[in-house]
Amino acid sequence: MKVKRFFSNLTVRMMILVIIMHVVFLNILYFGLGAVVEEGYKSQFIDYVRADAYNIAASMSGSSELTNNINKRAIEEAVLTGRTVFLRVLDNNNKVIEEVGDINTPLINERFSEDFAFGHGDNNRYHIEAPLFDANNQFLGRVQIGYDETDTQEQIDLAYQRCFLFSMIYALLAFMLTSYFGQRMTRPIQALQKLTRTIAHGQYQTKVYVKTNVVEIEQLAHTVEFMRVELVTQTDSMEHLALHDSLTDLPNRVLLQDRVNQTVTSLSQKEHPCALVVLDLNRFKEINDSFGHLVGDSVLKRTSTTIANSLRPSDTVARLGGDEFAIFLPETDIESAKNVVERMTEALSRPFECEGHSVVLGASIGLAFFPEHGTNYEELLQKADVAMYVAKRAGFNSQIYQPQFDKDALQQLTLISELKFAIENEQLFPTFQPKICMETNQLIGVELLVRWLHPEKGVIPPNDFIASAERSGLISQLTQWVLRSGIKQAAIWYGIGREIPVAINLSPKNLVEEGLYQSILSLLEEYKLPANLLELEITESSMFADPLSAKKILEALDTLGIKIAIDDFGTGYSSLVQLRNIPISILKIDRSFIHHMASNESDAAIVSSTVYMAHMLGMKVVAEGVENEETLNKLKKIQCDFVQGYFFAKPMEIHDFEKWWQTTYP
Ligand code: C2E
Ligand code: CA
Ligand code: CA
Repeated sequence: MKVKRFFSNLTVRMMILVIIMHVVFLNILYFGLGAVVEEGYKSQFIDYVRADAYNIAASMSGSSELTNNINKRAIEEAVLTGRTVFLRVLDNNNKVIEEVGDINTPLINERFSEDFAFGHGDNNRYHIEAPLFDANNQFLGRVQIGYDETDTQEQIDLAYQRCFLFSMIYALLAFMLTSYFGQRMTRPIQALQKLTRTIAHGQYQTKVYVKTNVVEIEQLAHTVEFMRVELVTQTDSMEHLALHDSLTDLPNRVLLQDRVNQTVTSLSQKEHPCALVVLDLNRFKEINDSFGHLVGDSVLKRTSTTIANSLRPSDTVARLGGDEFAIFLPETDIESAKNVVERMTEALSRPFECEGHSVVLGASIGLAFFPEHGTNYEELLQKADVAMYVAKRAGFNSQIYQPQFDKDALQQLTLISELKFAIENEQLFPTFQPKICMETNQLIGVELLVRWLHPEKGVIPPNDFIASAERSGLISQLTQWVLRSGIKQAAIWYGIGREIPVAINLSPKNLVEEGLYQSILSLLEEYKLPANLLELEITESSMFADPLSAKKILEALDTLGIKIAIDDFGTGYSSLVQLRNIPISILKIDRSFIHHMASNESDAAIVSSTVYMAHMLGMKVVAEGVENEETLNKLKKIQCDFVQGYFFAKPMEIHDFEKWWQTTYP
């Protein structure tokens, strides 16, 4: 693997290429050049020996007697120079006349063979023969000369050695240069590689720059730098997305947690408390449900700016989800945290215009302090959350966490398990509150209001357990119990000729349940009660969770002849016009308006216009919570149909109610 990687290296590859090229080229060079030089030397040698031999022969030719012509001294001189190894003169009968030099080879007896090329005969000699003539050109004999080839051979060998040496030096130089330039060329690539690796490891901040004069590498570096910059922006925006809420662009849970934990760990030793605030909008769900999600979204955006505007720059506001926000106030004390909360509450309770709707929100706020209530994000958030719920339940704007609250939460849990037992074991009992007709003063119906007789705590009012029952899902069992109790009582009265409708309160949760219609139908059949003696009170918010199926159930119940009443009207956001499509026959105006109508002009105006509008839409109107005559008279003037309240009677147990009935209507 390592070897394979080594050979994948660019420089190594270039060097291998150079080696291969040079092995080929140098061979050509070596053998080609060598051959040329060799040929040169050889032909030079042959030219020389030929010329020399013919010179010698010429010097011996020309006279009639061969012996006269032989200049022995010259011959010996020629042999002595070393070039000529031997020289032999033969007459025309092949008889040796003169012999000088190394006469042993070739032996006289052997046939003298002339060489035609350098190296013939393999004896380091070049044999050549030339004819001798007299003055009349008559053949006299021949001269045989042997020349020494070794000098030339040595020269040729030397030439080859030099050639080899040069080739080697050349190859070495080429090899060194290639490796030098190869490394020089790949160095910026390696630098680039290193930079891209650091980028891949998540360090994007270093600018990509390599020093090079190779255009391609420079362009590559530019491209990598471009990619880095893109990556930086992309990572930044991804990081932002991961840590922020997409709707409000506020920090999200993750970022908040990070900031809180970082601050509290760095503060642990010091004495600066911090506060974590949980804020839940009060009427957001209704706004969202009645005006639609677009309005809901823009309300949330408005709210986040409103909250942020009441904070210091060092504070963090985060959206936890839905209409829940958390605010982290580092280095604060109870007083300044309270001030911040007050500013926020004040700002959030101001009505504002949103997409053409007038909106009043309000918020419930819970506070928990570091280090008193918790030493990390989770603890603080949990405590602030508990405090917020307490504030919401109690209808306070804000609440600082107290250890007592945890007990309350525990009590809630016990309460739920006890309530289950209570429903199954007849600890619940109904009370009845009469509804009176304004015009005739007659009893026109009763509302069933449930109570819980707790073995230790005594009578518990519904406001203390209905919400828990809704949260825990026990509400369907509870409603079932109340329906049976109310239908049973109405059937008893019906049996003795008193046709008094009984109104039952339904929780919004009941309307999204599957079997509601069927169970009402079977109860009516079981007790043989005409449907018109049953009334159902629902709140505006019942229509919000699943308007279509709510409408379907209500229409079905209406078809049976059951009357539907809208309870606590005015506290929600629905308008009468919105409720027009649902089969509603009774409108119960919330007691908060009725209470104040005697003293408050605008409440009186709201009640009066509501009554007027309801009549236009064919509904009857019940005024809830009538406590005095003054209110009653005002209601009379604006032609409200029915009244219900302590002025006539409180909700009563069945025996008290029967007594009241007999004394009031003897
Ligand atoms: P609600 O349906 O608005 O019932 C009227 C509440 O106003 C009753 O309180 C009644 O006692 C009270 N009230 C009547 N006249 C007056 C008055 O002149 N002045 C004042 N200040 N109050 C008056 P209660 O019985 O404590 O019930 C509270 C709420 O609990 C009810 O409000 C209803 O929403 C819920 N609830 C009661 N019984 C049931 C039930 O069986 N099922 C469900 N789901 N909810 C119930
Ligand atoms: Ca009611
Ligand atoms: Ca009511």
